[in-house]
Amino acid sequence: MQGVALVTGAGRGIGRAVAVALAAAGWQVAVNFRQDVDAAAAVCQEIAAAGGTALPFQADVSDEAQVARLFRQVRQALGAPALLVNNAGVAHFGLLQEMTAAEWRRVMAVNLDGAFFCCREALPDMLHNKSGCIINIASVWGEAGASCEAAYAASKGGLIALTKALAKEVGPSGIRVNCVAPGVIHTAMNDRLTIAELADLADATPLGRIGSPEEVAAVVSFLASPAAGFVTGAVIPVTGGF
Ligand code: NAD
Repeated sequence: MQGVALVTGAGRGIGRAVAVALAAAGWQVAVNFRQDVDAAAAVCQEIAAAGGTALPFQADVSDEAQVARLFRQVRQALGAPALLVNNAGVAHFGLLQEMTAAEWRRVMAVNLDGAFFCCREALPDMLHNKSGCIINIASVWGEAGASCEAAYAASKGGLIALTKALAKEVGPSGIRVNCVAPGVIHTAMNDRLTIAELADLADATPLGRIGSPEEVAAVVSFLASPAAGFVTGAVIPVTGGF
């Protein structure tokens, strides 16, 4: 057993694949979801059927009080997380000048505040144990920027900076903080794209295709493993070269 891993937004997409991969690597997984209880239950059943351990926990990560409750419940049911994967995220597509303050706030609240709240809850136990691992799911747009995704890119750029700063802050306490920056991955987040737009993105990718959630999960699993024991403050692109 590797210990307890908490994966936020793990009911579907990349989070789901990360939960499954971590369970296969021996982690007991806390599957956080915001709304879709059936999807989270299905992930836990899939993990249990494969011989692993996983439990679902509801919380909106953008809500400070809900994150505090989430960690209390995870500690009670499974134990303190030794691994936190900040995966929950929302996208917003549109021109910046047409974006409302509420839309801007929502992107920041989920993608950046959520990671802050979860890190702050996870750290006391990790500091006490002098070990722990935090992995943030950022995006290639957080470094490169993307037209019509300014808020999303800003939130992911913030998450990359948070990763680098926190890695320096808690490294002396034996805690590693890293970031995975996916390119275009086949999930519901890209449902708004047409088949032609997806084909264009695949064409613009040196490996000539869109990535899968499992390919992101494999890198997260590596970063969480002892094999990555000297890796911290890193931003690992999983982009097919995009
Ligand atoms: P997705 O929309 O399928 O998954 C996002 C998950 O986050 C969902 O399960 C959703 O319910 C959950 N979530 C949203 N708001 C939440 C909240 N407030 N509290 C708790 N959970 C919440 O998309 P995905 O592609 O699997 O995205 C996962 C992560 O990967 C996101 O952070 C996203 O920004 C990032 N990412 C995705 C791509 C891509 O191309 N799909 C590329 C780069 C980065």
